[in-house]
Amino acid sequence: MSRLVLVLGDQLSMDVAALRAADKTQDVVVMAEVREEGTYVRHHPKKIALVLTSMRKFASDLRDAGWTVDYTTLDDPENAGSVVGELLRRAEQRGASEVIATEPGEWRLVDKLRFAPLKIALHDDDRFIASHAMFEEWAKGRKTLRMEYFYREMRRKTGLLMDGDAPAGGQWNFDHDNRKPAPGDIQIQGPLTFEPDDITRNVLELVAREFGDHFGDLEPFEFATDRDGALGALAHFVEHALPRFGDYQDAMLDGQAYLYHAVLSPYMNIGLLTPLEVCDAVQKAFDAGDVPVNAAEGFIRQIIGWREYVRGIYFLEGREYTQRNVLAHSRDLPAFYWGAETRMRCVRQVVGQTKANAYAHHIQRLMVTGNFALLAGADPAQVHDWYLSVYADAFEWVEAPNTIGMSQFADGGVIASKPYVSSGAYINRMSDHCKKCSYKVSKKTGEGACPFNLLYWDFLNRHRDRFENNARMGNMYRTWDRMRQDHRDAVLSDAARFLKRLDAGEVV
Ligand code: FAD
Repeated sequence: MSRLVLVLGDQLSMDVAALRAADKTQDVVVMAEVREEGTYVRHHPKKIALVLTSMRKFASDLRDAGWTVDYTTLDDPENAGSVVGELLRRAEQRGASEVIATEPGEWRLVDKLRFAPLKIALHDDDRFIASHAMFEEWAKGRKTLRMEYFYREMRRKTGLLMDGDAPAGGQWNFDHDNRKPAPGDIQIQGPLTFEPDDITRNVLELVAREFGDHFGDLEPFEFATDRDGALGALAHFVEHALPRFGDYQDAMLDGQAYLYHAVLSPYMNIGLLTPLEVCDAVQKAFDAGDVPVNAAEGFIRQIIGWREYVRGIYFLEGREYTQRNVLAHSRDLPAFYWGAETRMRCVRQVVGQTKANAYAHHIQRLMVTGNFALLAGADPAQVHDWYLSVYADAFEWVEAPNTIGMSQFADGGVIASKPYVSSGAYINRMSDHCKKCSYKVSKKTGEGACPFNLLYWDFLNRHRDRFENNARMGNMYRTWDRMRQDHRDAVLSDAARFLKRLDAGEVV
């Protein structure tokens, strides 16, 4: 009797575990575009279009490779509307009683499969370099789970940027070279873009019809939607952007959405590229002398370090991780996260780019929208929903630790040793937004003072009990304590006034 082989929308890899465990001469692949996956949060229309188009093309590649594929489109009247519903329907049609699946990247779906009334063999997703067992072994008995030490193990395990037992270039980490603000006149190519073909056009029409009211612009749609396209995007990045990736990794420029970033996370996260082949391409460019060590190391660290590490944390910490809120923050996420007006130029830029492209780079996510939400005391669950909705690369295993842990400190420091908060000075140093902002970054209080300046000290003051003994934050409290009392009072009362206006829905 044939078995069903489930392939989810972020499992579009020919050698994904479930396919390897199946027999293409007998088993039937099930792929389904289901409403439940498109709406459990209100995903950006570009993200939905990316996933659905890539699924359709992957199904066609599977058929070309000899697989039988039962594919259900979103508008199929028989569509059961959920992954489990579709498996049950196909099982009945095919007379199948067993399902082979690869572990999904979020607890929600893992549980749905575990508790489905079907016999499901769940295989580990070994497209990642660190298995659950390896991460658990690494984490066992450690007081803190800092990424840097995990990363060194991953360098040794993969052999990437290694000279024998030593790190290439004599250091594990070149981060201190990677904090240059970008000059305004730099030439930037941006990522490789793709014209929609007929399959993509059909999906775009479907998404416009079914999800047109979700936040985000559907068109222009320029993502790659198959493996060849994603490989082209990788080669383009390595040639045109990687050499300067390190230097300007943390920079932000008005009107420049991509700078020297890869924009490869959407492709890696749905399975069109593997993390190791991306790193191998970078290693090759480094070996050929085409990219400096700070760029190659900085980039490889993001992938075999951060990307693998956050996945390890997500599965290690368990199902309730997304509900953590150690700082007891409860403010509603302001409407300007969903496109309403704001006078803060940096936030407007990041949200505008996010709406247009379903993309923002790391420092924009961490130090602009994340920083503001944390300083303002926004409810981390709402912040998590926002990040999960609006980015094309957002899947819970990677989004939640970055949001709940790194950005909002809602996990109490599992990921970050201190909260990522800054006043306007940091944004001013790393970007040119402040020059064109209607607030003044140099003003610390009073009319026109940058809200990040007010909220930064308000946050530290509010959470003094928790943070003043943190070794990395003592200096901040000493600076605050050295300020004159009347200045501190003015900062706190201006911050309170700002937050009141924010809560009243005024344009701030
Ligand atoms: P580059 O800057 O060119 O980096 C190269 C690659 O490194 C990325 O493609 C990505 O795969 C990996 N990487 C870099 N930083 C991280 C990180 N912190 N965690 C995991 N992988 C990383 N990344 C996602 O893939 N999906 C998300 O939903 C997501 N949500 C985030 C939410 C917040 C609040 C923050 C602060 C970060 C989030 N990130 C997420 C991490 C990071 O911002 C993105 O991976 C990166 O911006 C993707 O763009 P890029 O491909 O141009 O990356």
